[in-house]
Amino acid sequence: MSNNPTYDTNIVLTQEEEDRLLIQRSYRKLLQSIREVMDEQDQQNVRIAFDLAVEAHSQQRRRSGEPYILHPLEVARICVEEIGLGPTAVICAILHDVVEDTKVTLEDIKQKFGDRGTRISTIVDGLTKLDGTHEYPNRQAENFRKVLKTLTEDVRVVLIKMADRLHNMRTIDAMPQKKQLKIAAETAYIYAPLAHRLGLYNFKTEFEDLCMKVTDRENYKFIAQKLNETKRARVEYIDRFSQPLKQRLDELNIPYRLHGRPKSIYSIWNKINNKKVAFEQIYDLFAIRIIADVPPREERLTCWMIYSVVSDVYRPIPERLKDWIGNPKTNGYESLHTTVVGPEGRFVEVQVRTERMNEIAEKGFAAHWKYKGVVPQPNVYNLWLNSIRDVLDNSESDALEFIHDFKSHLFKDEVFVFTPKGDMISLPKGSTALDFAFWIHSDVGYHCSAVKIDGSIVRMGKELENGNRVEVITDSRQKPKKEWLSMVATSRAKNRIRSAMKEERRKVGELGKEALERKLKNLKVEFEESVSLLIKHFGYNSQIDLFYDISTEQRTIPAIFKDFKAVNGKLILKEEVPVKQQQNKIVVDPKLLHLKTSKSGLLINDEPAELFQYQLASCCNPVQGDDIFAFLSANAGLKIHRTNCSNAHNLMMNYGYRIMRANWTTTTDTSFVADLLLIGIDRPGVIENLSHEISSTLNLNIRWLNIAANEGRFEAELGLLVANKDQLYIAINALEKLEMVSTVKRRG
Ligand code: MN
Repeated sequence: MSNNPTYDTNIVLTQEEEDRLLIQRSYRKLLQSIREVMDEQDQQNVRIAFDLAVEAHSQQRRRSGEPYILHPLEVARICVEEIGLGPTAVICAILHDVVEDTKVTLEDIKQKFGDRGTRISTIVDGLTKLDGTHEYPNRQAENFRKVLKTLTEDVRVVLIKMADRLHNMRTIDAMPQKKQLKIAAETAYIYAPLAHRLGLYNFKTEFEDLCMKVTDRENYKFIAQKLNETKRARVEYIDRFSQPLKQRLDELNIPYRLHGRPKSIYSIWNKINNKKVAFEQIYDLFAIRIIADVPPREERLTCWMIYSVVSDVYRPIPERLKDWIGNPKTNGYESLHTTVVGPEGRFVEVQVRTERMNEIAEKGFAAHWKYKGVVPQPNVYNLWLNSIRDVLDNSESDALEFIHDFKSHLFKDEVFVFTPKGDMISLPKGSTALDFAFWIHSDVGYHCSAVKIDGSIVRMGKELENGNRVEVITDSRQKPKKEWLSMVATSRAKNRIRSAMKEERRKVGELGKEALERKLKNLKVEFEESVSLLIKHFGYNSQIDLFYDISTEQRTIPAIFKDFKAVNGKLILKEEVPVKQQQNKIVVDPKLLHLKTSKSGLLINDEPAELFQYQLASCCNPVQGDDIFAFLSANAGLKIHRTNCSNAHNLMMNYGYRIMRANWTTTTDTSFVADLLLIGIDRPGVIENLSHEISSTLNLNIRWLNIAANEGRFEAELGLLVANKDQLYIAINALEKLEMVSTVKRRG
């Protein structure tokens, strides 16, 4: 053996070399996935984008310690492999964080890509978050509104955004907990439903699972483990179910594949939760999917042929047949679903579709383009995009309200109704007769004086039902009224009514405006500047509101100018009114600042909880050991919630900036009240039995115990004093083992 170092197998790489290797590997993987569809110019452009992004991000690392560039490369790969996008999207994905985080500008990007520069920089612009120089009360929502604005220009923006979010969710473990919660809440609130609406079924499912993993780790782990334990039995059952089916399907002489797919952890948990059943009682943990490979013209016939084979072999349950081939879902989903009775009398869901339908079901929007022309309803997306445009154009609300609107407007199911001429119109479910009028035309809405459904006059706020024939009666003297706002459900109608009323207020306000103009002229001060001062001083939202109040004498000119005087052509306040004290400030007692450890065993932002005013939230009653966060409430200081508290999602999404980190320290001698719900068989002595088990055997104290019994079943609310989560779970286990108890659940 020589000592020549080239024979050393443990070559130590420098950090730089290691990074370069990682980056090269990731880039090569990306190229492999897209090579086939690229021409020479694409190849060059991808290389330019790569070099640009590597250089721009060279000083950045992700929280996990990896070089930052790995993130955009991975997002690009997801765009190709999991959505099916092409080279332009890859280039934009590689560049998606460049403008935001580095010195590279949109103009730089535009220059570098020749005739494709404009398109690429437009998309990258859409992906770039709003810069930090503006103050927004809710940045995240504003950013999302921006994404949607660009969505109507180029759909790829939102698809790349989805891939970006998916990669961030897949790597969320490296984030601090507070951020994890906020990101997960946003994802569950807006990205998962949007993925669903775009037909990105796999994205939606993965989003939901990843969110659950963050916000409800325990139940997630519980189900993942159960699925793992029961895997073998499930595979065997699927085999037994498929064998006779395959024999018959082979006789059809059509290329097909058949497989059993497990349902997502999130959907299983939902079922357990909603139906209040145990894991073992859920039979449809999987669905059988049969995918045929046939040309477009034979699709429908083939699917029904396969259906008839399935229902020949196993008895179908007629009311569970769903034909989404004849009536595709509005997100483009096509498939035939049926539920049959399989071996051992178990219900099994079978989905029949073709390869094309499958690709659309999994890749949604993007796949639709690939099959342009084959799709039975090529307009579904155009209709949808139009309605997004509509919400965007008409929305004057703040960003949060907008997102809310957007969600309720675009994610709802539809209701189908007819015009008197027999044209079918689809409206969001929950729409009313008056919504219909505004849907037809804004003028029809403004002058709507009555509505007939199926020939008879109804309330204007009546909710539409499928198949209704709707006729609007107009009257040119009619005008939108404030009460109308409560009679409509669509944001389109709401916005039209609001702007019509605003116009009305503006007209009324003209008089007030003139009066004010005269007064300001007399004082010899500038109009616009003075009006802004008055608006601010009296807390109005707009000039129109001020003018309106003057016109209607809710605020008179003398009253307004009581507080003001003109000095050197400027309007100023006679005396400074003290600025309102800032609210929501946390009061810290300076005497407490020297405390190092927390008596209650709780840290908030790494400080002892005693420094803050805080309470354990009564909706979920956290105990020592639970995953928790602190939330700054509007008037009651900090509240400590469990991360899987049912209120938490909403709080985290809407008020992410009020969340603070909270942790338990290990030592504590405090007790916590756990809020339990027990269900079981009612028999004499239930109360004695329960209290005996708790006080004597478990040696715990009861805070409250309310029992209601009815027809042989009891429900008990139990407040139990425990030291920590471990002790609580020992107690839950022990109580579940009692003969008369069937389930024990934590509430909240
Ligand atoms: Mn990103």
